[in-house]
Amino acid sequence: MPSVCVVGAGVVGLTTATLLQEARPGVRVTLFADKFEEDTTSVGAAGLFTPGAMFRGPSEDVTWRWLAEGFAYYKRLLQSPEADEAGVVELSGYKLSVNDPGHVRTPIESLTEFRLLTPQETRTFNGDWKYGSFVKTLLVENQRHLPYLLKKFRRNGGQVVKRHVTSLEELADEFDVVCNCSGLGARVLCGDRDVVPVRGQIFQVKAPWVKKFCFTDQDAYIIPGIDHVTVGGTRQFDNSKLEVDKFDSRAIWEKCTSLMPSLKDAKVIREWVGLRPHRHVVRVESEVITSKRGKPTHVVHNYGHGAYGVMGAPGTAMHAVRLALEALDAGTKAKL
Ligand SMILES: Cc1cc2nc3c(=O)[nH]c(=O)nc-3n(C[C@H](O)[C@H](O)[C@H](O)COP(=O)(O)OP(=O)(O)OC[C@H]3O[C@@H](n4cnc5c(N)ncnc54)[C@H](O)[C@@H]3O)c2cc1C
Repeated sequence: MPSVCVVGAGVVGLTTATLLQEARPGVRVTLFADKFEEDTTSVGAAGLFTPGAMFRGPSEDVTWRWLAEGFAYYKRLLQSPEADEAGVVELSGYKLSVNDPGHVRTPIESLTEFRLLTPQETRTFNGDWKYGSFVKTLLVENQRHLPYLLKKFRRNGGQVVKRHVTSLEELADEFDVVCNCSGLGARVLCGDRDVVPVRGQIFQVKAPWVKKFCFTDQDAYIIPGIDHVTVGGTRQFDNSKLEVDKFDSRAIWEKCTSLMPSLKDAKVIREWVGLRPHRHVVRVESEVITSKRGKPTHVVHNYGHGAYGVMGAPGTAMHAVRLALEALDAGTKAKL
């Protein structure tokens, strides 16, 4: 039986692993990770589907395909009986900018409801906002979505191994194809210095009266999820401090309560920090490595999603799965 392993149990690894099982049910899939669910970066993401300029594939066409296929994937889940368990909901809200009309546009305008706000409407928000838009999009709450994917992976016969992987070569002897979905771990696992942590600090609060998201270009965003509202946040390049920083807490709280004063009455559930695995171009590509015992093996990389991993997971995973199946088929032909 052909075998593939996936390194990484964040949203990218789990989506890749489950889509691989669906695409080729005859393949044995094993998942390796040293962190699961609560301990991953993925778990704290707000999960909003709002592509920004920093989400990039190797070309405009590929980026667009990832977005369109990803949006369609989550839309299908939303319209299925699994939507609640998978943590997928529809969410509308506003994008605001102090001086950049481009910030309030979105590449998914043609896929959803979108309109620019009038200057009068924009002035109804507290602050010096000059441009605004209304967008209807999707939100994927990873506190539900990761367990949903892991359960689905196991139900489809996948094996889960909790282990720190020290090199991809050590797995290459055992498997026909290795999928590398290690996020920030790729910095060490494949020596990719282009992967850089972008530190994000947020509050999770109870504020059930907040029904619409508000996303600004001033490091202030308010995103209502299913079980809590995310109030953030920082975007600190090449900063890997995992502890909550009291100065950041003050700045986030001040900016967000000035944007939405009713948040002052919200109950804080927790503060959280995550390191986004940023790469100038998300890496989805195949390479051949030599295993410890000298066997040439295909590695399919899928990492570097930065601030867009939840949104970007399905589209990039579909791409990675196509590359993994091509590698498997090429290996089968070579054996014949
Ligand atoms: C504050 C904040 C808000 C965010 N909001 C959004 C949002 O609204 N929308 C959106 O789309 N994205 C958002 N993101 C970004 C998103 O969280 C990330 O892009 C995404 O989680 C990356 O997923 P991943 O699976 O690549 O990485 P991770 O979740 O970090 O998972 C990596 C996995 O690889 C494993 N691993 C790594 N190295 C090894 C090794 N050597 N051996 C074994 N296992 C290994 C880890 O154990 C882990 O299981 C946000 C991020 C932050 C910090």
